[in-house]
Amino acid sequence: MTRTVGGRAWKGARAVGRLRAELGGADESNDHNHINIGDYVVTLHFFNTLGRQVQSFEPITPGEVGLYTCGPTVYNFAHIGNLRTYVFEDLLRRALEYTGYDVTHVMNVTDVGHLTDDADDGEDKVEKSAREQGRSVWEIAEFYTQAFFADIEKLNIEYPSIVCRATDHIQDMIELIQRIEARGYTYLAGGNVYFDVAKFERYGELALLDRQQLQPGARIEVDPNKRNPQDFVLWFTQGKFKNQTMVWDSPWGRGYPGWHIECSAMSMKYLGDTFDIHTGGVDHIPVHHTNEIAQSEAATGSKWVNYWIHGEFLVMAGDKMSKSKGGFVTLRRLEEEGFDPLDYRYLCLGGHYRSQLQFSTEVLSGARSARRRLTETVGNLRARVGEGHERLGATGVVEELDGPAAEWRDSFRSHLADDLSVPQCLADLHQMLKDDRLGAEEQLALVYDIDRVFGLQLSEDRQKNLSADTVAEIEALIAERAEARKARDFSRADKIRDDLAARGVILEDRPDGTHWKLA
Ligand code: AMP
Ligand code: ZN
Repeated sequence: MTRTVGGRAWKGARAVGRLRAELGGADESNDHNHINIGDYVVTLHFFNTLGRQVQSFEPITPGEVGLYTCGPTVYNFAHIGNLRTYVFEDLLRRALEYTGYDVTHVMNVTDVGHLTDDADDGEDKVEKSAREQGRSVWEIAEFYTQAFFADIEKLNIEYPSIVCRATDHIQDMIELIQRIEARGYTYLAGGNVYFDVAKFERYGELALLDRQQLQPGARIEVDPNKRNPQDFVLWFTQGKFKNQTMVWDSPWGRGYPGWHIECSAMSMKYLGDTFDIHTGGVDHIPVHHTNEIAQSEAATGSKWVNYWIHGEFLVMAGDKMSKSKGGFVTLRRLEEEGFDPLDYRYLCLGGHYRSQLQFSTEVLSGARSARRRLTETVGNLRARVGEGHERLGATGVVEELDGPAAEWRDSFRSHLADDLSVPQCLADLHQMLKDDRLGAEEQLALVYDIDRVFGLQLSEDRQKNLSADTVAEIEALIAERAEARKARDFSRADKIRDDLAARGVILEDRPDGTHWKLA
């Protein structure tokens, strides 16, 4: 039950933006769709690609969210562009959970059917990679699936509620194709089953495709079997790719599914014929998601997904990063260069999901410095609060705040509700830590609260395991070392540094003083 008070000015309203503040008693049946901001209840708002508008979020089932995120195609490591999209989706999921929703997050793993060309040309990416690396398709898929989940764990991305591999759901895909076929949206040509886009009235609505341009012959098509260039394959038979090793029996012959059908089949299996949110990178809007909608709604005859939320690209040197073109940057490469995966997560937090994010080593270095300073500031706050600081991380603690601390909490929430404006939330965090009207306990409670969404592990810092006495002792030794250096007693200064290193405490001398961290 939400707290509502009518008629009062909203205490923390720094960025009301497009938010709709709902006054008390407005509609009891809807009050589970909102978060509290001060005395007001506010709905989360997102930019829905379908309709190109910021909309208030209303789930199908009160208090619950069905979320589907297109997962990786496991033929290579994820590049940091892909990972930006998964970080954005994690922020979305955490924001929903922060608001109190019970989120069922489904992610697929594409281990078959994703061709090197989205328009059904080329060959299966996993098959190609297996051939190039001299390994079996199953080995390739397993290896890169493991690598992907290792990456997202390092980025502190929450593990999906359900992870589903395409190859485990072939029967579901066949059944869905049969439903689409039974409703008259398919045709057979050259051994393949095609979806006939001309039969689907709303084709291209998501991508704002012009129906005039969707007429047969509008452009030269590489696949002569297609009646319309936008038609796409639901099921390939061996007729098209003779060397395909991942094949299954089907009513249309031995073969394998198209890439788009897997997302429709698996999302509907786990989330129902209509669900709340579907996400992915913006590159998926014109083909993959457009085709997912067409085939799903053709099968059910009703609306499939209510909110489509897309993440913009990470770009390098003015170009988009591409997994298939090679030369891409992986998380492990960043680690080899001495970065912590959370430095990259921090970098992602600094860009709004609907804006392109420029990547360079310099920008990442800046993110690393900022994150280190933040971690240190939080470590110092912990030392000041001392024993029992963990209790400040319990849910509900920040609801008790008042005065300036409550204003910061509310400002953070209003930015979050305003189309997931995480960069503003991050700015709030930094400003809040400089606000000397707040006590250490208030600041730490706010940090722990915000970090439920940021996922920077600010409350899990290993330094928290050190007692306040140990922290004080380390800091006294650092001060003693500074004095020794001032007195040009370098052997004493070096001994202190070496003794601390032997205890796993690493010192870094920087322009603004000596910083320390655990090795
Ligand atoms: P894929 O493994 O190719 O299916 O891509 C996985 C996810 O990464 C999809 O949601 C893509 O939209 C997304 N993606 C691909 N390239 C980029 C990029 N440069 N920046 C952000 N997201 C990307
Ligand atoms: Zn998909």
